[in-house]
Amino acid sequence: MAYEYDDQNIFSKILRGEIPNATVLETEHTLAFNDITPQAPDHVLVIPKGPYVCYDHFADAASDAEIVDFSRAVGEVCRMLDVKPGEGGQGYRMIANSGENGVQEVQHLHIHLLAGRWLGRMLQKPRTD
Ligand code: AMP
Repeated sequence: MAYEYDDQNIFSKILRGEIPNATVLETEHTLAFNDITPQAPDHVLVIPKGPYVCYDHFADAASDAEIVDFSRAVGEVCRMLDVKPGEGGQGYRMIANSGENGVQEVQHLHIHLLAGRWLGRMLQKPRTD
């Protein structure tokens, strides 16, 4: 089954300028902005401008130029936040929630870039219901 992209999702509205955002970085194919409900001192969302639902959709369907631009934008945001471990920064975590088990709320690919505090272990225990 092919992915169907719903352009009424909130990030699509942000990309069309219908909803404001706190932009951190904008490139030809990528937008990075602060999460409205930050889970860490730094919590930036990085999204492609193209209509991709989640990471595997992007990996399969995006152009090489979009993928390179997105990947470089993530690196650039790390540099802007001064969190690169190889350059004296204290590190960060990238999360891309996808689908039901990944608990993805907004159906437009986004990378959460979290930093600025110790982030604990990666996963909580699974729910028991
Ligand atoms: P996910 O659960 O991975 O789909 O994450 C969606 C994220 O989008 C959450 O962390 C929300 O806080 C964030 N979010 C929702 N609406 C906005 C908005 N208008 N501006 C910035 N972040 C938003």
